[in-house]
Amino acid sequence: MLSLTLREVISKLKDGSVSAAELCEKCIARAKKIKELNFIVTENFDQCRKESVQSARLWSEYVTGRHQEWRKFGGIPFAIKDNFCTKDIRTTCASKMLSNFVPPYTATVVQRLQDEGAVIIGKTNMDEFAMGSGSTDSIFGPVRNPWNYNFCQLQHTGGSEEQGGSADWHIAGGSSGGSAVAIATGTCFGAFGSDTGGSTRNPAAYCGVVGFKATYGRLSRHGLIPLVNSLDVPGILTRSVDDASLIFNAVAGHDVRDATSVTDPLEKFTLPDDISVKDLHIGIPKEYHAPGLSLCVLDAWRRAADMFENAGAKVTQVSLPHTQYSIICYGVLCCAEVASNMSRYDGIEYGHRANVQDSTEELYAVTRHEGFNNVVRGRILAGNFFLLRRNYDDYFIKAQKVRRLIAEDFRKVFEGGVDILLTPTTLTEAPTYSWFTKEDNRTRAEEQDVFTQPINMAGVPAITVPASLSPSGLPIGLQFVGPNFHDRQVLTVAKWFEQQTNFKQLDLNYLIDNS
Ligand code: GLN
Repeated sequence: MLSLTLREVISKLKDGSVSAAELCEKCIARAKKIKELNFIVTENFDQCRKESVQSARLWSEYVTGRHQEWRKFGGIPFAIKDNFCTKDIRTTCASKMLSNFVPPYTATVVQRLQDEGAVIIGKTNMDEFAMGSGSTDSIFGPVRNPWNYNFCQLQHTGGSEEQGGSADWHIAGGSSGGSAVAIATGTCFGAFGSDTGGSTRNPAAYCGVVGFKATYGRLSRHGLIPLVNSLDVPGILTRSVDDASLIFNAVAGHDVRDATSVTDPLEKFTLPDDISVKDLHIGIPKEYHAPGLSLCVLDAWRRAADMFENAGAKVTQVSLPHTQYSIICYGVLCCAEVASNMSRYDGIEYGHRANVQDSTEELYAVTRHEGFNNVVRGRILAGNFFLLRRNYDDYFIKAQKVRRLIAEDFRKVFEGGVDILLTPTTLTEAPTYSWFTKEDNRTRAEEQDVFTQPINMAGVPAITVPASLSPSGLPIGLQFVGPNFHDRQVLTVAKWFEQQTNFKQLDLNYLIDNS
């Protein structure tokens, strides 16, 4: 039951062959059994149970014809990244600063899911304040990738790494690693991550699931604790492209609480099953043959391009000439917005407060030193440096100009007739934890954002779909990118690719007995 897609589970709830209460119990049991992966930071099991029992009653009234109405996600468990505010459920951003923060309101996209009957099974682990690409920098410890993770062996040896249970598991990717693991392991049927520079697509690729970043402004950011407001987009993680489309259609649309949310109405859509890519123009950006691109990713990318060509699509090489400046440009813009966003955490209004009585300045300083990890502190310092009057033009303004050039690259390619870009999502498969956290390798790993960050700068929609397994048995994702507001087209092409590849998702039996 747990390996079903969201679409499949909805149809089973509708015909009465599955009960929402039973579904919820199974998901909770799964979450408990694989706790070791450290992907949930706040369990919401009791509430989830309660609501799913209510949903089960509503479904049975529908199935027996006593009620005509049904709620799309009635009683279906979803996981939410811990940077989305959830009323009465602790929301920490995986930081000491917010370790006891219980929001008085719910983020719009989460609320819209709940309005359709969705139940929250738990809040998921992440890099502190979504800064990272590994889900390794969290006050709750790192998230573990279920692929190639010898869970049974760990169990067998008493769960201790020192005993040799698992010396070198792979990272889940980040910063939405917890949500990606929740989906890959069948713990829920849909999840939210956030995507500022790739934080939804990167872990989705590493964990072998679908990760969708919609056009900037299509999904409300209200209640998503900001990292870089001008780049942040709520991300959707699922086991199929259809599921991503279902969730997108349920939560997208204007929100008066988010000034950057797009006002023109969204036409709801369902993806067709019979898709043709004949005469579609697929662009392959030559700059994405970037240093560090692994052979297995390159191979998957080439095979996908051939697949489109064989199906009658026109596949040509295109150029996005400013790609190489993306990482450095993102670095400046991200830190500048971080410096401003993080100033609200001062120990006065909410969040952590240091035990200091000497002066207000001292209270601010100690609170922020204690509350943030060194990644966050480093970005605040760098951001304030870039924003100093004497540096502003040389850094912030210049980076804004480069950002414009990066966005123009995409505009030109799409105006030149390309329908969809096909690119890798990451340079390699998921690195091991020890490699990722070895001195300086973290920087190298962040270079993996090279294919995802430019997309946030341009605001365009993009999705990662699992393509194949590397020789070591780890998933490889490929990315489809479309013009602004062509979310439907991106999803449609991605679905066609998914149908051709028939990627076999994580074998749930491998983790534990699939009940
Ligand atoms: N890896 C990037 C960063 O550390 C992107 C993170 C994100 O998309 N939230 O900022």
